Amino acid sequence: MSRYTAPLREMRFVLFEVLQAESAFAELVGAENASRDLIDAVLEEGARFTEQVLAPLNQTGDAEGCRWEQGRVLSPKGFKEAYTQFVDGGWNGLTAAEKFGGQGLPEVVGAVVKEMIDSANLSWGTYPLLSHGATESLKNVGTPWQQEVFLKPIVEGRWTGTMCLTESHCGSDLGLLKTKAEPAGDDTYRITGSKIFITAGDHDMTENIIHLVLARLPDAPPGVRGISLFIVPKIKVNREGVMGAANALGCGSIEHKMGIKGSATCVMNFDGAEGYLIGAANKGLAAMFLMMNSARLAVGLQGLGLMERAWQNALAYARERLQGRSLTGPKRPDKAADPLIVHPDIRRMLFTQKALIEAGRALAYRAILLVDQAQHSRTPEAREQAEVLLGFLTPIVKAGLTEFANECCYHAQQIFGGHGYIREWGMEQLSRDARITTVYEGTTGIQALDLIGRKVLQLQGAGLKLFATEISAFCAQHAGESALVEFVTALARATQEWMDLTLAIGKAAEANPDAIGGAAHDYLFYSTYVAFAYYSLRLLVAAAGTDQDFQAAKLANTRFYFQRILPRATAHAAAIRSGSGNLMELADTAFV
Ligand SMILES: Cc1cc2nc3c(=O)[nH]c(=O)nc-3n(C[C@H](O)[C@H](O)[C@H](O)COP(=O)(O)OP(=O)(O)OC[C@H]3O[C@@H](n4cnc5c(N)ncnc54)[C@H](O)[C@@H]3O)c2cc1C
Repeated sequence: MSRYTAPLREMRFVLFEVLQAESAFAELVGAENASRDLIDAVLEEGARFTEQVLAPLNQTGDAEGCRWEQGRVLSPKGFKEAYTQFVDGGWNGLTAAEKFGGQGLPEVVGAVVKEMIDSANLSWGTYPLLSHGATESLKNVGTPWQQEVFLKPIVEGRWTGTMCLTESHCGSDLGLLKTKAEPAGDDTYRITGSKIFITAGDHDMTENIIHLVLARLPDAPPGVRGISLFIVPKIKVNREGVMGAANALGCGSIEHKMGIKGSATCVMNFDGAEGYLIGAANKGLAAMFLMMNSARLAVGLQGLGLMERAWQNALAYARERLQGRSLTGPKRPDKAADPLIVHPDIRRMLFTQKALIEAGRALAYRAILLVDQAQHSRTPEAREQAEVLLGFLTPIVKAGLTEFANECCYHAQQIFGGHGYIREWGMEQLSRDARITTVYEGTTGIQALDLIGRKVLQLQGAGLKLFATEISAFCAQHAGESALVEFVTALARATQEWMDLTLAIGKAAEANPDAIGGAAHDYLFYSTYVAFAYYSLRLLVAAAGTDQDFQAAKLANTRFYFQRILPRATAHAAAIRSGSGNLMELADTAFV
């Protein structure tokens, strides 16, 4: 069975030393009380809950999966009880505003706990996952009565939320969606249509489920400008918050899938179900994006959580498993063979994981700290700046961490050799679970288009400029330090090349729109490698005051990253410079 211990030291190091969270919180309205002592206690307790309650259900949940019986979904054994403990422990409302019944802690603290949940049991974590997203939409575009009636029970954990976008003929392209919403003559609507792949669309954990459904009003314009968002409860709820009869909706079936088998992925049929419009008519996509942006960061954290668990197990195995002798002579002459960890190739895989996890964690937490800053900074300028930078970093966090999760779970499995392929060790489950993270909440391809198209070119590079300026200032600050010079020089060069590549793509796109799509994937990876390089170096700098072993580990990590991972960016730069001709010149019919 695979093991999990929350990496509290690393988590605290990133939060308090790298990101200086305490001084950052002091600048936010309402976060002044988020003291280090309080956060430490929350993290300790989060570690206990995830290690002792959720982690033991990970493999059993995978083996058992969900069941669909007579239109009802039953989650794997123990999941419901764990959810009750989660709610009783106040975890569900950890970061929600106090006025909605939450504890009002910063989102970044919630992110650390969420990483633990995702390491411990990714499938289980998908049940409360979209409640958080629903909270964002309700908080921002819900009316006061909708917040009172729907938001409070969701924050409390009495009800969960879902996000119903996808239909059988439309996933990435939501402009194609067909689900209809007819005004009922009062303040309600009748929703009719079928949604597929709905995470936690039905389950046995709560008395009600609140679906946030994208649908079209009768007179809606075509495409994405004609989509509205509706609150559609499983059990009807009136304006006073009183539950009534079952709504005209149901789970038609659940999917049998590659991974996250303990997470119910549902076909949801709406047959004239009663719903309430949330936000303005035909502005549903913008309202849904509030939920989706939070969910994209959350999926990035899923990638991080999986990598961490895979890495912990791979490291332990590499230390225990005896196989072959070190090329420089026996390291354990008392044993029949040396442990795997003496071999350079095993170290390559271990270091790759460690380097990607550590830089990825710092980047992800930073992005989620920006969520707090975008909402609670004291000045409009600071809020706006945080929002722009967050928008820019979101596709990098989502796609970067999930793609690397797949790579790292692959390395971890490989370190286990044949045992990595065998169920009881739990490593193949991590690889299977990781696969979905590059798909849902927008595939890597869609994140890539979002980054170069919407976040960079459409906004005249506003987020990129902010980030590049920050990196340049950091490089200038540390340029004179001989111990850092090789890293600072490489980071400054890569950042300059990033700007040059961006300009080149923008210029090429003026003549040929395919230049954007042709560069998108490589641009996303180039950006990710540079962003990770920056955080790898920041980890090293922040380690200066820590003990010698910790510093030495950070130095080795940063050196590995700069010498063996950052050079991958060069290949992506070459691919970008090659243009889109090599992708587009062959006619569709000529693929033979
Ligand atoms: C387990 C699971 C859980 C899910 N949970 C939810 C949920 O809770 N709610 C929900 O609404 N949906 C959910 N989804 C749906 C998920 O978000 C979609 O599957 C995903 O967005 C991709 O859509 P699609 O499957 O229709 O693929 P398509 O959109 O058909 O894409 C197919 C391929 O084409 C690429 N592609 C598409 N358009 C373009 C383009 N313009 N340019 C370049 N490449 C493009 C994509 O990147 C992808 O590689 C879930 C899916 C799964 C499998």
